[in-house]
Amino acid sequence: MSETSPRLRAVLEDIPTYKPGKPAGTGGPAGYKLSSNENPYPPLPGVLESVTAAACSFNRYPDMACTGLMDELSERFGVPRDHLATGTGSVGVAQQLLQATSGPGDEVIYAWRSFEAYPIITRISGATPVQVPLTPGDVHDLDAMADAITDRTRLIFVCNPNNPTGTVVHREELERFLDRVPDDVLVVLDEAYREFIRDVRVPDGVELYRRRPNVCVLRTFSKAYGLAGLRVGFAIAHEPVAVALRKTAVPFGVSQLAQEAAIASLRAEDELLGRVGSLVGERSRVMDALRAQGWTVPETQANFVWLRLGERTMDFAAVCEQAGVVVRPFPGEGVRVTIGEAEGNDIFMKVAEGYPKEG
Ligand SMILES: *Cc1c(COP(=O)(O)O)cnc(C)c1O
Repeated sequence: MSETSPRLRAVLEDIPTYKPGKPAGTGGPAGYKLSSNENPYPPLPGVLESVTAAACSFNRYPDMACTGLMDELSERFGVPRDHLATGTGSVGVAQQLLQATSGPGDEVIYAWRSFEAYPIITRISGATPVQVPLTPGDVHDLDAMADAITDRTRLIFVCNPNNPTGTVVHREELERFLDRVPDDVLVVLDEAYREFIRDVRVPDGVELYRRRPNVCVLRTFSKAYGLAGLRVGFAIAHEPVAVALRKTAVPFGVSQLAQEAAIASLRAEDELLGRVGSLVGERSRVMDALRAQGWTVPETQANFVWLRLGERTMDFAAVCEQAGVVVRPFPGEGVRVTIGEAEGNDIFMKVAEGYPKEG
């Protein structure tokens, strides 16, 4: 067989396939999907309308420059249009950033455990991943990340809040870190959960970008805005980086449906952020309950909580599924549970209550 197989790049051998969150059971008891950090609210009627209207002309290619969306984003964030780039989800944009900066022999630094797409897209680029363990409190160890910088470092991801732990880094420590990063190394602040942050000590990456040409901010419509299925995210970065993102974009990657939905969502932002507020309320309810039950849970500023269950991770996930909620296990490490509908959260809390707190 191997003689007839086309030759594939050797780096692919080490790349794990991205594991999507398990879907909610069809037929089985697991009716709530708390495994992918999705927004449990269905699309707003107005957003749905604009998508339906756009669907009438999907025989045409989309607007490749995303003109309307760029205008909205430029206005909303107070950044020049040429500092913006869109992509197929912010994961798509992250992959483009790697294509633009990193190749064989280069190093890419990120915390671990963090977003599971980082090792995948880093290896695809051919660059070497440099994984810096989280602190014992499951927070980015920014001092250790700065210490890990070499003259081969090309890109550093800072996931704030971090997926899957929900933990954040604060303004002072992040500024101190950025001061230590050489000007020619790109720092990518992945702020996929920005809208869920209530801790005022967490800086807005867009403010940091304004004063630092080597900082790029990633945002997405997938989480707070509820457009995960439409694939649209964006970067805010200074011109050389934004230009590189336009060069590395898959032509027509962002569909017209996604563009229209994103525009309509920005215009309905008050309502959508109201929903985010309700989810943040649910998050407090879940966190308070878990702590009252005796769990040690890191402070989360995202739409999920992290239980470090170690060897009991898969067992806990199975018990959850039996009870009717699908969670996201990372074998040997822990379980990430998305804050979803109150009913789903209730089931999760009930499982957690009855589960032994120590291994
Ligand atoms: C969900 C998520 C994203 C966004 O993914 P999309 O491709 O925009 O759907 C990016 N970064 C992190 C850390 C995430 O958890």
